Amino acid sequence: MNNRRFESIIKKCVKDENSGCILWNGAVDKDGYGRVQNSVNGRLTGLTPVHRMIWKLQNGEIEKTMLVRHKCRNKHCCEITHLEIGTVMENSEDRRRDGTMPMGENTDVLQYLKLWPKKSKIPKEMVLSNREQIVLV
Ligand SMILES: [Zn+2]
Repeated sequence: MNNRRFESIIKKCVKDENSGCILWNGAVDKDGYGRVQNSVNGRLTGLTPVHRMIWKLQNGEIEKTMLVRHKCRNKHCCEITHLEIGTVMENSEDRRRDGTMPMGENTDVLQYLKLWPKKSKIPKEMVLSNREQIVLV
């Protein structure tokens, strides 16, 4: 693990004693997620969500089609024990249950998928099958 990188992120967080969450206190994007520079072999490759970076630093590379989910439901949280790997479907189930998933006519899996890191390549058939499943629920 890259300790220096990990510590530089954690320095920008504050701990919430009640929940145990370690909350990102830096800048956030329009979706409310903290963003940090990603790098591969020391080369900067663009911005990535901070919780995704925390997971990567602790556990290694994440498959492009997988999400890092917040078990605590706080999207600012960087506490590693509050994070888990999941699929788009699992995440949309969370959002539906929590009432944060757009419902009805405006539900559009492509809009939802824009939360994915910009450079992720989502296999077309996966988008289509998820669209199908989400429309059916
Ligand atoms: Zn948390």
